[in-house]
Amino acid sequence: MVKNRIALIAHDGKKAEMVAFLNQNKKFLTNFKLVATGTTGKHAIEAGFEVKCYKSGPLGGDAQIGGLISEDKISMVFFFRDPLGKHPHEPDVQMLMRLCDVHNVPLATNPAGANLMIKGLQENTVNR
Ligand code: PGA
Repeated sequence: MVKNRIALIAHDGKKAEMVAFLNQNKKFLTNFKLVATGTTGKHAIEAGFEVKCYKSGPLGGDAQIGGLISEDKISMVFFFRDPLGKHPHEPDVQMLMRLCDVHNVPLATNPAGANLMIKGLQENTVNR
């Protein structure tokens, strides 16, 4: 069976929240392949997850994941953004989020939204 892919991205101020979120949803995530920007992926791997890592965000990782979205290779995106930080790659961040909208890919930019997405998917699966 080909597993769907989830893309994981977390700004530096949100990496701890991403790891906590991944640990809370470990079982659900086994149904998916995980891809991530470089440093986010490294944190997830250290937490015990299998992740394909792309370049670090500021070096083009967000753009690479945007490319995967445009090729319909991503089922959903968990992008925990730090609204209080400045990011040199903000244009890439905007591009990634725009491509989610262009391709109608579910995008959660914080743990509350991501948890709701997972809950919705689980209920959908149970009720089918
Ligand atoms: P990183 O990139 O996972 O390499 O830190 C994330 C980002 O800032 O876009």
